[in-house]
Amino acid sequence: MLSLPVRVFTLVMLLAALIPCHAKVINYKVKRGDSLSKILYGVGIAKSGQMAHQIDKISNRQIRNYIQPGKYIYIQSEGPFLQKLIFKVSTLKSYEIVIDNTVNFPQKIKVKEVIKETYKRIAYFSGEITKENNSIYKAGKVNSEKFLTDDVIDQMAEILGWRIDFEKDVRVGDEFKLIYEEVLLDNQKLFGGDILAIEYNQVRGNNIKKHQAIMFEQDGVKRYFDLNGESVQKAFLRYPVQFSRISSKFRARYHPILKRWKAHSGVDFAAPRGTPVYAAGDGRVIEKKYNKGYGYYVTLQHNNGVKTRYAHLSRFAKGLARGKYVSKKQTIGYVGSTGYATGPHLHYEFIKNGLKLNPLKVRIPSAHPIAATEKLDFTCLANYWADILNSKFLIDPIIVSRKPGQCQLNRLSTDRARKKSI
Ligand SMILES: [Zn+2]
Repeated sequence: MLSLPVRVFTLVMLLAALIPCHAKVINYKVKRGDSLSKILYGVGIAKSGQMAHQIDKISNRQIRNYIQPGKYIYIQSEGPFLQKLIFKVSTLKSYEIVIDNTVNFPQKIKVKEVIKETYKRIAYFSGEITKENNSIYKAGKVNSEKFLTDDVIDQMAEILGWRIDFEKDVRVGDEFKLIYEEVLLDNQKLFGGDILAIEYNQVRGNNIKKHQAIMFEQDGVKRYFDLNGESVQKAFLRYPVQFSRISSKFRARYHPILKRWKAHSGVDFAAPRGTPVYAAGDGRVIEKKYNKGYGYYVTLQHNNGVKTRYAHLSRFAKGLARGKYVSKKQTIGYVGSTGYATGPHLHYEFIKNGLKLNPLKVRIPSAHPIAATEKLDFTCLANYWADILNSKFLIDPIIVSRKPGQCQLNRLSTDRARKKSI
């Protein structure tokens, strides 16, 4: 024998099933002090407390911790009945909670983890430095259709950073072309993959200085070379922070805090607090300290008597310790303004045999030449990309993603990107 409330409920459910679908959808923004039962009550869900309790019982921790101010919950209901909840954990991952209302209390509730699949494609971009777009960052963002994500522009600055001074040597009229991978979700660019080939032309009157680089894999490591097979990259990063504004160069200057002239024995990179600071090259941590001038700082020992120092950090990277080895571009700390600093910036020093050198001028050895056994593969790939980069015609993305025979590119063809939670 069914109890009265259950019978009433069953009747309502039957009626609800007969009524044409009037699903209500709300994208609810969680407010301070919200709980799931409060949210459900607020949108008119029957037995909201009981429902919230049931959902809580079967949820995992990611869902339970989800309800925080500013997050969105997708709520689908019909009349007083909850049908579906979606908690979006990241761009790619969400949890769907589906309630089967055709069954009496306790209703059947299912939790489903939904991972959206991204895919990779090879893309082409050409840009020009103009009066309005006077940096590679601006020129990389012409409009909402034609743009490069910041991570791709950072890569470009890093790859060609030893050949082109992106701070000083970028002029109106300069042009660049990029062939790169992009990761898409529902036809929206999410972030960039690797740059496959790149060309930057410094146009100075009739004189054009062409810089080209292509990606070539050596023992699973992706590196960049010019068309002659010379590495365009060096044993050290040029910019140990994400490409930023150089706020103070290597020279004598009036120290704003010490109020006296002082040789500036490093380079300052202005960057927002918290920007990751990278190890400029492979090395070992020899100092991880605080002093009143440098604030929190790290010194690394590299090969050939080179040391690099990173000062005014807001904090050190997790797990960083004296004696530990770090690799090039590993995060060692975060930009801050500890010590004598007027604002957040990285003070970076390059010290060779005890002498402080200008890190932007010093000759840095090239990294990893092309071995004789790799020559054939490399030439094949270099010719393939050079043809595309040198083409005067509008480049068809299909041609770009065509497989060029036996070259390494075989492995780079358009494929599904790894499932990646971000
Ligand atoms: Zn400085």
